[in-house]
Amino acid sequence: MILKMNLGPNSYDIMIKKGAYNKMNEEIKAVYDKQKIYIITDSNVGPLYLDKIKNELHDFKVYSVCVEAGEQSKSFETYKEVLTKLLDLEIKRGELLIALGGGVIGDLTGFVASSIYRGNPYIQIPTSLLAQMDSSIGGKTGIDFYGRKNIIGAFKQPLKVIIDPNALETLPKVEFNNGMGELIKHGCIGNRKLLDMLLNSDVKITEEIIYESLCVKKNIVEIDPFDLKERMFLNFGHTFGHIVELDGHLRHGEAVANGMLMAIQMGIDLGLTNPSCYDTLKKILLKYDLPIKNYDYKEIIKNTVYDKKNIAGEVSFILISDFGAVFAKKISESELLNYECKN
Ligand code: NAD
Ligand code: ZN
Repeated sequence: MILKMNLGPNSYDIMIKKGAYNKMNEEIKAVYDKQKIYIITDSNVGPLYLDKIKNELHDFKVYSVCVEAGEQSKSFETYKEVLTKLLDLEIKRGELLIALGGGVIGDLTGFVASSIYRGNPYIQIPTSLLAQMDSSIGGKTGIDFYGRKNIIGAFKQPLKVIIDPNALETLPKVEFNNGMGELIKHGCIGNRKLLDMLLNSDVKITEEIIYESLCVKKNIVEIDPFDLKERMFLNFGHTFGHIVELDGHLRHGEAVANGMLMAIQMGIDLGLTNPSCYDTLKKILLKYDLPIKNYDYKEIIKNTVYDKKNIAGEVSFILISDFGAVFAKKISESELLNYECKN
């Protein structure tokens, strides 16, 4: 399946195909006419897929740089290490980078690509569920710094995205959960069909499920490529999610899953959300084995005052009136500190 991201001169194809890695050579030749390619990968993904992909790219001269797996590689140190290795390999202006890995490798490689020679092309080959259904498209790249996530970065769209769902077979269960929370979020905010597919299919990620999930993000990125307005809808479940994530027991996607339930409960209490959404969402989360902790949003809502999206004393809560109908509701800091539900 092919999905097209329409961003004028920065448009690109997103290919979703089981076995796509076997067609890599032709796919890359279609968009890149130089000889050398530099693959950036991590210490988990590299041993699993690097040789296969290198062998497949028989018309190119392929180099690789492998960094330590994990969020800590989205750092200045690793950024510098990758740049140094690329320059040691004598990378030239205009030569292609490939991000082979999860969201960490995608964000890091994209940022390297955005800055080396003021911008070299890069292709995303996402291997985690989170990267396949979300982070590999949209062009947000960056690293963490000063104790803050994604604080240094750039918008840099890839030249192409190649997704092989077969790669998910080697993904650990916790990483699967992490992506699943965000995938279900896409269904909640923009795609009722995706939720129905999740409710009615086996617990297996198909090309169609990834396609439907990416459609939600694509539609939002196309109208708001620089994250000025509508892209905030992708934060559904995140305001509460970030707070419960802080105690360290839940992965980000699992926290978002709980955050979505809280946002729906809050919407129901305020008379703004269709009450049936709660049970439907809970059913899907349980089906995909996401840990549901039954938090009470009223107990943690005061902490949202410290949310990074607290702008001028107001926090924007992303709520849904029904699946597929998302909106923002601003609540002032003083209201939050004295929050009591009207019902
Ligand atoms: P990750 O890249 O750390 O991958 C998770 C783990 O799974 C890693 O240990 C990785 O080595 C391993 N892994 C990946 N694919 C595998 C496979 N096929 N088989 C076996 N192991 C595999 O984390 P992630 O969850 O993919 O991404 C999280 C990052 O994405 C965060 O840094 C987040 O800020 C970023 N993100 C970016 C965007 C964006 O729009 N750019 C959106 C959401 C998240
Ligand atoms: Zn998230």
